Amino acid sequence: MKTIFEKSNGVSGINLSDETENLSFFDEKFLRKSPVNLPQLSELEVLRHYKELSDKNFCIEKGFYPLGSCTMKYNPKVNELLGNLEGFTCLHPLADDEDCQGALELMYKLQEALKEVTGMDAVTLQPAAGAHGELTGMMIIKKYFEVKGEKRTKVIIPDSAHGTNPASAHACGFDIVHVASNEKGQVDVEALKSLLNDDVAAIMMTNPNTLGIFEENVLEISDLMHKNGSLLYYDGANFNAVMGYTNPKLMGFDVVHLNLHKTFATPHGGGGPGAGPVAVVEALKEFLPVPVVDFNGKKYFRKYNLSHSIGNVKGFYGNFSVLVKAYAYILMMGKNLKRASEDAVLNANYLKEKLKEAYLLPYDEPCMHEFVLSGDKQKENGVSTLNIAKSLMDENTHPPTVYFPLIVHEAIMIEPTESENKERLDDFVNVMLKIAQDAKTNPEKLISAPHTTPVKRVDETNAARHPDLKFIQQ
Ligand SMILES: *Cc1c(COP(=O)(O)O)cnc(C)c1O
Repeated sequence: MKTIFEKSNGVSGINLSDETENLSFFDEKFLRKSPVNLPQLSELEVLRHYKELSDKNFCIEKGFYPLGSCTMKYNPKVNELLGNLEGFTCLHPLADDEDCQGALELMYKLQEALKEVTGMDAVTLQPAAGAHGELTGMMIIKKYFEVKGEKRTKVIIPDSAHGTNPASAHACGFDIVHVASNEKGQVDVEALKSLLNDDVAAIMMTNPNTLGIFEENVLEISDLMHKNGSLLYYDGANFNAVMGYTNPKLMGFDVVHLNLHKTFATPHGGGGPGAGPVAVVEALKEFLPVPVVDFNGKKYFRKYNLSHSIGNVKGFYGNFSVLVKAYAYILMMGKNLKRASEDAVLNANYLKEKLKEAYLLPYDEPCMHEFVLSGDKQKENGVSTLNIAKSLMDENTHPPTVYFPLIVHEAIMIEPTESENKERLDDFVNVMLKIAQDAKTNPEKLISAPHTTPVKRVDETNAARHPDLKFIQQ
């Protein structure tokens, strides 16, 4: 495909040079000496160019998107419509409380809804994503111990954790201590016990964990941590597995972030915007970022006077349009949020059972909303997990998450979500079985995949360092 500069033919919808000639009030020295090098094309040709570009993208509207850990569920289009209502998009963030009661009411009610689903006692909507929520949570935990006059420097993190967990704790000044997983893919409680002492501020966990396995000992773990005077942080990225069935409060956690852009259906392919609200137990309420949105029975208002607030973690009040979309989704779903989790778990277990013959399943346990295969069997024929992922692109399927979690060799992490029907799941099974067959009989085909995409196999290192698609094409 040609770039828009190569397509330029001098026929333009708008003539910029004529415009500047008329601006005689500009000082000469500010005027260009030569014409701007902008492509010139008619409006229709510009439209065709961008349509052609968008057709080259993959999106959930085109096909199956089982990107593990990312919860690429279908985002209902009505949420976009609501998020784009003029009353929301034209509101100034510094408007007085009286002039934005509707927006404040929405934020307040979203806070209340998130309190209900998490079981927690107070919420901030400010953080812009999950990792930002983690940082906010860690800052809260740090300040909590400062105020208590305790010097705790360590945060315990399972070896299966998402990379943002240690990064957030470290960015907050904590030292990271890893705790091993046992043969069931869960936190090894004995190993955890041996790590506990007065230095430990907190443990960061996700439940179900990144293997898609529910941590059965979570109550024992929260008990151990609290007896040690430590707190528990819940990475809520996997919340799509448990909504309405259980919550972090019941599991004994003190701080939790949710990824609204994962669980609560706002689009997030290509990098945001997102929202990572943080919810806390009563004892940590006064540590939240300000302002929080409150209601006095008559009016909604922004509240700034929290006694130990860590301050503001984001300009204004977070990514407001994401909050609108998530609130719309929650209202639309109501009690069916529970059904969403149920279907997500059912779909994942269905795929796991169908694929565990052809692919290695290192932790053969009932899974929650996702599961992790290993490409080790295929590797014996020289076909890596990367090759399998690339081959899926030839089958109108977004590759799953690969090489994560780190504790599974050649990991393939599959999360179908609740959005897919049985026919789609069966199509995916057939594609995966065909790839497993090809790995035995025709590995060369997989090793050189993808064959049908606009960009073929790229040199991974060059692609990262010089993101120029013409240059990196092998
Ligand atoms: C996605 C994810 C995160 C980070 O969330 P972002 O919104 O991408 O910052 C953290 N932990 C887990 C397990 C995740 O899947």
